[in-house]
Parts: sequence; structure tokens; C-alpha cells
Amino acid sequence: MSAAAAAAARTVALVTGHSRGLGAALAESLLRRGVAVVGLARHGNDALAAAFPAQLRQVVLDLADVEAVTQWAAGPALSESLAGAERALLLNNAGVVQPIGPAGSLPPEAVARAVAVNVTAPLLLTEGFLAATAAAGCRDRRVMHISSGAARSAYAGWSVYCATKAALDHHARAVAADSLPGLRLCSMAPGVIDTDMQGEIRATPAERFPLLDRFRDLKAGGGLMAPEACAERLVEHLLGAAFGAVPVADLRTLAD
Ligand code: NAP
Repeated sequence: MSAAAAAAARTVALVTGHSRGLGAALAESLLRRGVAVVGLARHGNDALAAAFPAQLRQVVLDLADVEAVTQWAAGPALSESLAGAERALLLNNAGVVQPIGPAGSLPPEAVARAVAVNVTAPLLLTEGFLAATAAAGCRDRRVMHISSGAARSAYAGWSVYCATKAALDHHARAVAADSLPGLRLCSMAPGVIDTDMQGEIRATPAERFPLLDRFRDLKAGGGLMAPEACAERLVEHLLGAAFGAVPVADLRTLAD
């Protein structure tokens, strides 16, 4: 093992939604750098497990299940998964774009589910992560929320998605104001990425989403980023010296 890989082996990353899309690419980028990854999702990632059997641990967790997330984040499971880490990372990546449609027409269960996955789970995991890393005396701890441009611009049909992502941005600002030792955090908008989520968006009936054509045109015109390319830039930034200089950022406008 190279010196860089040995150093990275003392880095542990918790990655939510590592089973596919951006989260799978984030986990892979970290694993390739020698970082130990704990992936949390409802499904496993067989390809990553086969490629990195000693480095990847998978936890089956439904992030919409507030009680289960509370138990995992506040109990010994989270702190044990960070044991021995000199540098600890939390990537709150998992998210849902549903329900899409005009306010007043949204299924209540889908609203509650989106808030649980997009906001409650990241906040609970951040709490558990901060408490565990403080107790372990970890001096380099980094949290990246995967936000969205929808946190900062209002889009018709996306009231719940916009609100949940804006909550992550403001959470990051307020935690930054706590000036916790050794903590860097950033709520990061990644740009538009070619994942299942974009497929779901393009499959929405036009009457429920006025911006449908914009997203169909982006796909048709090759305007979507590959998840691997996006993840590579996000991880490079996460591990770099500039990470956390501002609590809210956009990958598209980051200075390299
Ligand atoms: P995706 O392809 O739909 O993948 C979503 C991931 O989240 C999956 O790994 C999924 O795992 C996990 N997830 C969803 N619900 C979950 C639940 N109840 N419990 C546990 N895990 C759950 O989405 P993506 O495009 O990769 O999005 C990743 C992040 O980027 C999201 O936060 C999204 O809002 C953000 N983002 C995406 C875009 C884009 O253009 N794609 C743009 C801006 C921001 P399981 O199904 O295995 O549970």
C-alpha cells in the first residue's frame, strides 16, 4: 500500500444512497482513494462490494424511517463505524425529488417521506456524526450535504424538493455559526447529473411539471453531467484545503 493509500485508510466516510446514481459514484471515488466507506441505503451495491470487499461496509437502512435512523445515528452503530478514524467524512447524498406537482395536489405521505429522507435523516446523521467524532477526539471531520440549485431558485412543481434542499443549506449555515472544532461543512449543489432521478423528472406528466421540456432538452442535448465526473470533482473538493470555506456552494461555480 502506498503512503497516500495508508493515510487514506485512516479516513472513514459515511455515504448515504451509495446504491446508485451520484452516491455510487461518490463511494467509488472515495474507495479508489483508499478511504473506508460505510454505505447506507435500502439496497446494496454489489459491484462496489465485489471490487472493494475489505473497504466497503453496507448498512441497509430506510432513511424515511425516522425511528430506524434515530437509532442508528444516536446509538453505537454510527460511532463504531467511525472507530479509529483520524479523518471522518459524512456525505448526506441520498435524496428524493418526489412528490412533483403543484402545491395543494401532493400526496401527504409523499410530502412526509421527502422531508424524512431529504431533511430529517441528514440532520440526525449529522448530529450523530458530530457527537461521535467529538467523543473520539477526531480533529478532521467534514460534512457535505448534497443540495441542489432548487434550494436557491424556486421551480414550479418542486415546492417540497425546493423546501427540503433549502433546509439543508440553512442547516449548514447555522452549524457553521457554531464554530465546532475541527469541523468543515458545506451544502453543495452538484449540477444536473445523468441519474435515475433525472429519468423520474423526465417521466413526469407535463401538467404536473411546467419545466419538463427544459429537462428533456438538457438530456437530448447532452447537457447532463456523468455521475462519475461529478463525483470526482466533489470528492476532490471535499478532501481539499478549501472545503468548508463557505457553508453553501455550487460545484458549477467553484474555483478549481
Ligand atoms: P437517484 O439516482 O434517484 O439515487 C438516489 C439514492 O438515494 C439511491 O442510492 C437511493 O438508494 C437513495 N435513497 C432514496 N431514498 C432512500 C431511502 N428512503 N432510504 C435510503 N436511501 C434512499 O438520485 P441522484 O440523482 O443520484 O441524487 C443524489 C443526490 O443528488 C440527491 O440528494 C439529489 O437531490 C441530488 N441532486 C441530484 C441532481 C440530478 O440532476 N440528478 C441534481 C441536483 C441534486 P436506495 O433506493 O437503495 O435506497
